[in-house]
Formats: sequence, C-alpha cells, structure tokens
Amino acid sequence: MGFLSGITRRINETKQAAMEPGLGAKALATGFGITFKHYLQQQVKARPTETIQYPEERREQFPRTRWRHVLTRYENGLEKCIGCSLCAGACPARCIYVQAAENSDDQRYSPGERYAVKYEINMIRCIFCGFCQDACPTGAIVLRKDFELADYHRDDFLYTKEMLLEPASILGLIPLEAIGTVDRSEAH
Ligand code: SF4
Ligand code: SF4
Repeated sequence: MGFLSGITRRINETKQAAMEPGLGAKALATGFGITFKHYLQQQVKARPTETIQYPEERREQFPRTRWRHVLTRYENGLEKCIGCSLCAGACPARCIYVQAAENSDDQRYSPGERYAVKYEINMIRCIFCGFCQDACPTGAIVLRKDFELADYHRDDFLYTKEMLLEPASILGLIPLEAIGTVDRSEAH
C-alpha cells in the first residue's frame, strides 16, 4: 500500500513540475546550450569529427577487435583443428558443436589423430567473448575483424565448418582436393 502511494505521489509531483511555467523552456534552453557548445568545439578543432562514408569507407578497428570466427590452416594446407572440443567446453553460450573423426594416411585433414568432421557455431547465441579462441590448443579457431554478420533468416546464422574454414586457396597453397593426401611428416 505504502509502495503504491509513493509511486502515485511521485507521478503527481512529476506532472506538477511539468506544468510549472518556465520549466519546459529552461530544459529546452539547457539542451540547446549543450548542442551549441559541442558545435562550437567542433568548429575550433583543427580536425573536426569526420563522417565516415560507410560502406565505401571503413574505420580502423582496435587491434583486439573480435568478430567473425575463422577455422585456420597451417601453411601446408592442413587444418589446425584437431576436433578436441575444448572450444565447445569453454563456450559460455554453448553455441559450438564439434564432431571429431579419425584421420587416416589416405585421408588426412589435420596433423593430429583426429580432425573435426563437423564444426558448427550458432552465431545468434555467440556473445563474441573469445573464450573459444583462448581455449584452443592449436590456434585453430580465431575471431577476426569481419563484423558484417547481418542476415535475413535464422538458419543462416548456423555457421558450418565449410563456412568457417579458411580456404586453402587464399594461402596460395595446394588445391583443396589435394589436402587429403598431404604427407603427415609435413605437418607442423
Ligand atoms: S566467442 Fe564466446 S560465445 Fe562465441 S563461440 Fe566463442 S566462446 Fe562461444
Ligand atoms: S577449434 Fe581448437 S579447441 Fe575447438 S575443436 Fe578445434 S582444435 Fe579443439
């Protein structure tokens, strides 16, 4: 009862204050004063604040910025991920799913005994904390600076291994189809 009467009293006080003559004009003048002060500050600065013409222009990001995940490769094309699931265990949002499989001499994807046959991140749940990157023993999963992650359908936010894996071609390396036959001794 006391709580409700307290709220009612505050509402009445606010209404009364709003109706007081001159109070609205004073608030308006204060607001305009702040705007004008900032305008003058910009005019006297040697380099006024620039408007970036996004997306044609991009602001430089902070060095530790963490956005889109990438599954990286070694220089010889092998995948760094060994399917250990430590990233999934460290993820506070439980948004990583890893399914491991055994490498064989004929089909080798990573230097270790196992590789991730399935690797998925639910980007809607991800909070970009970077714990997965910190937990990874091989430096396989990294968060890079691609921040344009908007999409239209919920299903498109389930990033698969194919979407996350760094293409071998961008390293100027062996073609993808040859990776399964890389000699194990070449692995780092
Ligand atoms: S950045 Fe954080 S929330 Fe996102 S997948 Fe990695 S550990 Fe999970
Ligand atoms: S990304 Fe790293 S931590 Fe996650 S399964 Fe692969 S090797 Fe393990």
